[in-house]
Amino acid sequence: MISLGLIGYPLIGSLSPRLHAAALLELGLPGEYQLYPIPPLPEGEPTLRALLGRLRAGELYGLNVTVPHKQAVLPHLDELTPLAQHIGAVNTIYARRGRLVGDNTDAPGFLSDLRRVMESAPPLTPWPPLSTEERGPGGEGRTALVLGAGGAGRAAAFVLALAGWQVRIAARRLVQADSLAADLRAALDARVAGRVTVTTLDQAGLAGQAAHLLVNATPVGMIPRPDACPWPEDLPLPPEAFVYDLIYKPSETGLLRRARQAGLPAVNGLGMLVEQAALALETWIGRPVPRPALWQAAIG
Ligand code: NAP
Repeated sequence: MISLGLIGYPLIGSLSPRLHAAALLELGLPGEYQLYPIPPLPEGEPTLRALLGRLRAGELYGLNVTVPHKQAVLPHLDELTPLAQHIGAVNTIYARRGRLVGDNTDAPGFLSDLRRVMESAPPLTPWPPLSTEERGPGGEGRTALVLGAGGAGRAAAFVLALAGWQVRIAARRLVQADSLAADLRAALDARVAGRVTVTTLDQAGLAGQAAHLLVNATPVGMIPRPDACPWPEDLPLPPEAFVYDLIYKPSETGLLRRARQAGLPAVNGLGMLVEQAALALETWIGRPVPRPALWQAAIG
């Protein structure tokens, strides 16, 4: 029996159990995927420790991690994959020889879906990263504006910078954006490190910002406040932007509605959800996971 699950809080309306159940069924593997709501630390610490103990003991097969634990879980793990280490956030955990390993499938999941929806998106960057010459044109010369500097913002900013985009990180707390930018610059090739800049997520910080890609990596617009929008009300969206909202519930957030009204191409995070789930399951079971089964479960 393959026992999988998701750690997060409050985990209302998560599609992950449905996606993983559909994939396991398609693969003919007996298994389950449970939700483990764990309050933010320190309150949730004893529950988190107990659950990770079950994973270490082999009682559980693998765990996903979502808001608000993607960074909080790091001190509880024994190892990180190079990608998770550089991003500084984990969404997938497994046990190897009694040691807990943290990985990140949000990053490749995001870029893989971006390639699907945005015709001119850069190629998926392999790990370890290629040299600038090998990487090809990718996002060279184009600017991505990432709203939010938490776990998902880290993943998106990291892969975009690697793929050659100029990345501007906007956060309501500039100190958080600065910390992410410093981590990225330290992880990246010196030639691309200068492409990462920061600003404040407010009218003053966003006014006049040109962007070819606008990514919402904040939870603003999620149920139960689907009309909320992280972009300031009185500021027009960047006129050339492709808008990618990582939120998938509701399917049209306040930001996506504004993008539609402004005539901008825009998508929600359902494709990223499917990709990151498929990549996590492939990490756990070591077999290719059929995307159509997951898409059917996500839409159906
Ligand atoms: P997180 O680690 O908690 O980070 C959230 C970020 O948003 C932080 O920078 C936070 O700033 C900021 N933020 C929160 N409330 C805000 C507000 N009212 N105004 C401005 N900024 C605000 O969360 P996460 O894991 O990165 O997830 C972010 C979003 O991405 C969530 O909606 C999540 O569902 C979505 N996501 C989707 C997928 C997918 O597969 N589609 C995968 C991962 C994440 P503070 O630190 O100041 O609060």
